[in-house]
Amino acid sequence: ESVVNKIAAGEVVQRPHNALKEILENCIDAGSTKISIVVRDGGNTLIQVQDNGSGIHAEDLPMLCERHATSKLEKFEDLAKMRTLGFRGEALCSISYVSHLTVTTMRQGDGHATRTVFRDSKIEEGPKACAGLVGTTVHVEDLFYNMPIRRKALKSSSEELSKVLEVVGRYAIFHEGVGITLKRQGNQRPDLCTGQKDTTLEKIRMVFGSQVGSNLLPFESCPQDSSNGSTPSTSGGELQFSAKGFASSANYTAGRRTVLVLFINGRLVECTPLKRSLETVYASILSKTSKPFFYVSVTMPTEHVDVNVHPTKKEVHFLHQDDLIESLRCSVEKAVFSSND
Ligand code: ADP
Ligand code: MG
Repeated sequence: ESVVNKIAAGEVVQRPHNALKEILENCIDAGSTKISIVVRDGGNTLIQVQDNGSGIHAEDLPMLCERHATSKLEKFEDLAKMRTLGFRGEALCSISYVSHLTVTTMRQGDGHATRTVFRDSKIEEGPKACAGLVGTTVHVEDLFYNMPIRRKALKSSSEELSKVLEVVGRYAIFHEGVGITLKRQGNQRPDLCTGQKDTTLEKIRMVFGSQVGSNLLPFESCPQDSSNGSTPSTSGGELQFSAKGFASSANYTAGRRTVLVLFINGRLVECTPLKRSLETVYASILSKTSKPFFYVSVTMPTEHVDVNVHPTKKEVHFLHQDDLIESLRCSVEKAVFSSND
């Protein structure tokens, strides 16, 4: 049974950045405004995430890593809505099967923090009283220590680190009012440091450089934008969404490949057809070697999104996909050509 669980866990957590993404989302869900991340070997041997969120109630600790032990599903209909987004109460459980997991937590009003070590979904040690601050620290050591083949399959520290930086940078841009720092253990200087008050544009500049960040145009989009007189081709349902973001201006000159940073309902996802469609706006205005940058945040009814069967798959599918893509393309086109005079 434990072998099966271990294998299942290895499906959810494949590389350090998958684990980190889940941990980060938990911090955000807990209402954190400051998140400090420390990694060693690109996360291969250590991922530590400290937040200043709500903390975890003492009585929830024994169940914390049980599969489907989520505090986020109150009603049954929530389950149907949230499953598509990957809220499954599986992250900590999976991490506990494939690493050494320690959780230190304290809630407002608690006299002290507690430290608990988990193994294979169960408490192995603790909860023990210790000093701490309000919030939670999740400490993940030696990923796949018990799965030698998986451990061997991990990429080099520098490759994992760049993936980790990519994921953290994108979440940092998306979450307004949250400051995120990422450091390599032993380093003074953080690799990434965004402040609680930084604007989206400032954060894009920090993460992607000023070449990208200084040549961006804001755009907004909602269903009406797409129908230039003609009726939308949707049948049996309304195209519902709202989107906003930034797109490269016409005079932008850099970027060897097109970058689309896409959030749908707060989840970082990929959508290749959208990327390709937005690219076409620039076909006649950017040089062959200059590829645009897009940051897009879309909100739509959760039941219209399908993040695909596999928990680590990021390629997203949604209802009325073609119409939505076309609407976004029009908005970007409008932004780019109305500023290009
Ligand atoms: P899910 O996020 O799908 O509920 P997880 O396995 O990611 O499942 O987390 C399990 C539970 O642990 C969460 O529902 C939450 O109650 C608690 N939790 C995890 N991380 C934190 C955190 N940083 N702060 C507060 N609570 C947390
Ligand atoms: Mg979670």
